[in-house]
Amino acid sequence: MFTQNPAFISWKWQKTRTSLSSTHRNSSYSSSSSFSLRCFFSSSSSSSSSSVSRRPLRYAVLGAGFAGLSVAWNLLQHGSKESHLCVDIYDEVGVGGGASGVAGGLLHPYSPKVKLLWHGAEFWKESLNLLNVAEGALLKLANEGKCETLGNVESPIVRRRGILRPVVNLKNMRIMTENAQNCLTSCRIEPIHEDAARNLIPNISVPLNLAFYMPEALNINAQSYLQGLYLACENLANDISNMGYVRRELSFHKKSIQSLQELAGEYDAVIICFGTRAGFLPELSGKLPLRTCRGVIAHLQLCDDMREEYPEHSPSILSDAWLAVHGARNIDLGSTWDWSSRNYSRDVTREEASEAMEVLLPKASSVYPAIKNWNITGAVAGLRAMPPITADGSLPLLGCVDEYIDGGHKCKYWLFAGLGARGLLFHGWLGKLLAFAVLSCDENLLPSELTSWKHKMNR
Ligand SMILES: Cc1cc2nc3c(=O)[nH]c(=O)nc-3n(C[C@H](O)[C@H](O)[C@H](O)COP(=O)(O)OP(=O)(O)OC[C@H]3O[C@@H](n4cnc5c(N)ncnc54)[C@H](O)[C@@H]3O)c2cc1C
Repeated sequence: MFTQNPAFISWKWQKTRTSLSSTHRNSSYSSSSSFSLRCFFSSSSSSSSSSVSRRPLRYAVLGAGFAGLSVAWNLLQHGSKESHLCVDIYDEVGVGGGASGVAGGLLHPYSPKVKLLWHGAEFWKESLNLLNVAEGALLKLANEGKCETLGNVESPIVRRRGILRPVVNLKNMRIMTENAQNCLTSCRIEPIHEDAARNLIPNISVPLNLAFYMPEALNINAQSYLQGLYLACENLANDISNMGYVRRELSFHKKSIQSLQELAGEYDAVIICFGTRAGFLPELSGKLPLRTCRGVIAHLQLCDDMREEYPEHSPSILSDAWLAVHGARNIDLGSTWDWSSRNYSRDVTREEASEAMEVLLPKASSVYPAIKNWNITGAVAGLRAMPPITADGSLPLLGCVDEYIDGGHKCKYWLFAGLGARGLLFHGWLGKLLAFAVLSCDENLLPSELTSWKHKMNR
């Protein structure tokens, strides 16, 4: 679909979900390539912009997953109207080359016990905002005839059918019922009994006769979303530049960064959004309180001889395992939690896939027994960067990290990592907050809950 753009992983990779390992190999890419969208002053505007500073502000965003693209979008969007601004994105694989590109895509602002998360309203609002932005960019491209037509698909990115969470643990029933009462009006939680659940999903099993239905919760195609968001960044740079007052420049460098020293001196600020691999940088090694956790997702297809498809209007299912529905005969089943792994490859061996199925199938069939009619056609994996659990839940790690890198205090190096299992929810609002902090060189613009990890590390 967008393969002419070096930022994008081959579209073919997404469609070839029939083998147990993905067809993507890092080695198929050149180790370093770059391109950029350069938008200059129109000549008519140069006089009106004489007050605009000549030296552009230059920002390096390291990583093109949820975190990196959200920061890039927000830097371009909220950069000073007085300054030229260049954003260089670095990623060795391409857009969505890490955990973001394989994320299951289930989006809602609640914990497993359906409790509204810390700042859940802000997270929910900003993720919907970026979703709209990305969707708009892809639809624009389709309308211009520059990519495959969308056919009858209502959205290139999102399936809007809600999520159903059957209760499977008696112990949590009361607390979940209480929590559900404090839901957002923009993402409701409706407690329902088995009969009502079966009206939504005919073959669902609700072992304790209670399920929570989130009608506004979403199921995102993560890879398409990321591609849309990157395109939106390109469009934004272009649109702002075309207005003629300031210039916005966006460049993508398909390049591996082994050390932050490679970028020293080039940028006003460097924002590290390398996911789990932020801690692999020599400057940050051993300094981040992150644990890694590998997860496998299996792609399932309904057996050819089965006529009863997954109903068009039925929600996805969330339980001890989840079922993210992508079509009447096409479902993703996830995901495993391997806390001992540091393997960030998305390739899955047959052995790893069958071990994952042994874990996932019993969990899935306890709520959706018809899963036995589905065959595994492929599997992908990713490495989550898990932050410590705090009184406010598992919160990502944000903040200025100059002290770890060059011992300075100039707000040059920033970290955005530890998005755990909820990157899709976290990235919008936190990318915005971080962009404001970077643009103002002021870490105090970040909530202290997100930077307190540094004080704990320094003790
Ligand atoms: C199996 C699984 C299922 C998940 N499902 C969900 C879900 O349903 N909903 C949800 O909200 N979250 C989900 N998550 C979590 C979510 O995927 C992560 O929170 C999120 O992807 C983290 O985003 P990130 O941008 O921080 O990191 P990443 O997406 O990992 O991005 C880091 C980028 O940096 C690049 N990079 C790293 N090191 C270097 C280097 N040295 N040089 C150049 N480039 C480099 C990588 O190529 C990558 O593109 C899931 C995770 C997994 C593993």
